[in-house]
Amino acid sequence: MADDIDRANELADEHLNHSLRAARAAAVTATSAGVPGECEECGEDMPRLIDGRCGYCRDGRGPRSRT
Ligand SMILES: [Zn+2]
Repeated sequence: MADDIDRANELADEHLNHSLRAARAAAVTATSAGVPGECEECGEDMPRLIDGRCGYCRDGRGPRSRT
């Protein structure tokens, strides 16, 4: 009985670790592909942010001006 519970816990831990690894890998992929949001540097709402910054800030060009 106790062995069954230990085994179930082991399996659950393995599954959790695997899920965490998969989620972390997915997060890295999503970050390198860019995520929508507000740029940390210029504050513009951009469809693709990498490391929290838009392409303009990363390139050092500055955001396109909105008039
Ligand atoms: Zn920016």
